[in-house]
Amino acid sequence: MLDDTQTREAFDRIRDAFPDAKAPTVKKGRDPFRSVVSCMLSAQSLDRNTAAASKALFTLARTPKGILKLDDAVIAQAIRPCGLYNVKTRNLKKMCRFLLDEYGGRVPRDRAGLMSLPGVGRKCADIVQHFTFGDAVVAVDTHVHRVCNRIGLARGKTEAQTAASLEARIPDGYRAPGHVLLLTFGKRICRSRDPSCGTCPVNELCEAFQSGAMARARPPGKS
Ligand code: SF4
Repeated sequence: MLDDTQTREAFDRIRDAFPDAKAPTVKKGRDPFRSVVSCMLSAQSLDRNTAAASKALFTLARTPKGILKLDDAVIAQAIRPCGLYNVKTRNLKKMCRFLLDEYGGRVPRDRAGLMSLPGVGRKCADIVQHFTFGDAVVAVDTHVHRVCNRIGLARGKTEAQTAASLEARIPDGYRAPGHVLLLTFGKRICRSRDPSCGTCPVNELCEAFQSGAMARARPPGKS
């Protein structure tokens, strides 16, 4: 893993490469319940499919009580675009029941409370905290997980492990913008397939690149 000085240098370079990537502005009135539901629907789903499923569901119900009143088949049909709709329907109902029983229907504000909700893991909790409550936490999704482990910013076999590792060592000043910076970097430069290692601003620091692992993983002829 990179040392503290190298880690800060890597973050500084990524920040300088994407001056437009800033911590999100939390919209007033963003509903935490709908954020949790959308996050649950997003598992193994493309953003556009999650958006379609969320929109269809929220036209039917927007509260835990409202969702519990719907038949499973109606929910499953609404959220069909995001896949795994039967499992997600069951999880949604469990989460709504628990939320009403344990929290009076109000979404808890902290990570432990969010993760106590059935079907809500570390990533979902961090995304809700970051984008809905505006907390300075770095949500680790598949892009952030990949980037962190390639460069050596954090280590983890799972997104949750990488999130814990990153949280313990992220440089001051990068908790708020960290998610957006690493996400943008992962989508535009350090892509899953065909990363732009040759022109990457952190290739001198990147452990995967320096070890030759990226060249070995790449088809002949690509730089
Ligand atoms: S050098 Fe390649 S693998 Fe390393 S961070 Fe840059 S794009 Fe990703």
